[in-house]
Amino acid sequence: MPSYNILIAGAGLGGIAAACCLMKAGHRVRVFEQAPKLGEVGAGIQISANAMHVLRDLGLESAIRKSGVRPEAYVFRLHDTGETLQRFSLAAEHEHTHGAPYTQMHRADFHEILAAKAREFDPDVVQLNKRVRGYTENENDVMLHFDDGTSATGDLLIGADGLKSAVRRQMLGDAVATYTGDAAWRITVPIHRIPQQHRLEKAMTLFLGPGGHSVCYYLRGGELINFVGCVETDDVAEESWTVKFPWERLKADYVGWHPAVQAIIEHCDKDQCYRWSMHARPPTRNWSTGRVTLLGDSAHPTLPYLAQGAAMAIEDGAVLMRALAMAPNILDALQLYQRNRIDRTARIVEQSTANRALFHLRSVDEMRSAFARRNEGADRNKWLYSYNPLTVDLK
Ligand SMILES: Cc1cc2nc3c(=O)[nH]c(=O)nc-3n(C[C@H](O)[C@H](O)[C@H](O)COP(=O)(O)OP(=O)(O)OC[C@H]3O[C@@H](n4cnc5c(N)ncnc54)[C@H](O)[C@@H]3O)c2cc1C
Repeated sequence: MPSYNILIAGAGLGGIAAACCLMKAGHRVRVFEQAPKLGEVGAGIQISANAMHVLRDLGLESAIRKSGVRPEAYVFRLHDTGETLQRFSLAAEHEHTHGAPYTQMHRADFHEILAAKAREFDPDVVQLNKRVRGYTENENDVMLHFDDGTSATGDLLIGADGLKSAVRRQMLGDAVATYTGDAAWRITVPIHRIPQQHRLEKAMTLFLGPGGHSVCYYLRGGELINFVGCVETDDVAEESWTVKFPWERLKADYVGWHPAVQAIIEHCDKDQCYRWSMHARPPTRNWSTGRVTLLGDSAHPTLPYLAQGAAMAIEDGAVLMRALAMAPNILDALQLYQRNRIDRTARIVEQSTANRALFHLRSVDEMRSAFARRNEGADRNKWLYSYNPLTVDLK
């Protein structure tokens, strides 16, 4: 099996997970991250079986189970009365059906677990303060150039540098980002602050309202509740995890919503309310050259309405690892990788975009009838969660 010298731009969840997969397969990997220190923001992340197969293969399942929460069910409820529109099981049933659990956890904990694994393979794998400016590719190698004037050379470059990827910009030009009309609030709240009668069950609860929806789930063994609230607004701001907005605006956006939602908002740290402007980008049918490819948000940016952005990035890393082992050279491996990822990731991106319409229907009657016509659990079990990137046929 060939062993390559691999450069990765970006140490987000996608870049670090890919680094672990590739080092496990025997490659030498260097990950270059622009930030001065590693880490993730204080928000939640959901990890379904399709990504968990890879994490298990890396030996991370027990750490993830320990620090995560396994929700009982996925529940769609009306925004005001809380009436349940549909519910499907996630706990034992998800694990039994797909052979791996559905877990919700703190992003910082998840990133730390992955980064510790990466450093176990190679303590020097991550290079910080390395902002990628561009690359030069030729027949024999690829050179990555940094803002500080230095460079690094490898056999292969993976652009895992996120939504505003420098590698993608050089390869394909910037993806056209269109504001969707939604902003996503995010807060986390210690559960002990919330009165007992307003605490939600240990589930993934999605409240649907006209012009908005909100997602609530637990983190850190149930100590924290994570809230993501999507609202329609003309006030376009930055697409970022770290832009703060006034708590009063968050509160105003959820007037009249279920008491559990209002209690979460009431008891959060009022100077810690973040809001992200949601932009959509069309899927692309090519994201590789001879020695350079993309992975995660840089390859297939998605709206989060199916909670699969990071899961896709983790799947990418596993499929790329397999493609490098199967193909006789890097060019063929990158083609094999993208050929086997494009349709799946495009389907997820399209379904996530379609969920915006489903989650923002205008009237209660429309919401009831939309859910009466569909079976979210059966549908997702059939194609989304059942994918295993370690065993799927690569063609
Ligand atoms: C509100 C919300 C909720 C979500 N919930 C879920 C969920 O529940 N489940 C799920 O699977 N996904 C979810 N996602 C999507 C998920 O967060 C992303 O898809 C995932 O984090 C992408 O990982 P990545 O590694 O590709 O990119 P990123 O996480 O953006 O990482 C990119 C890294 O590259 C670095 N970088 C950028 N530019 C450069 C440069 N020029 N040089 C060097 N380094 C650079 C960055 O600093 C960063 O560390 C959600 C997204 C949002 C907005």
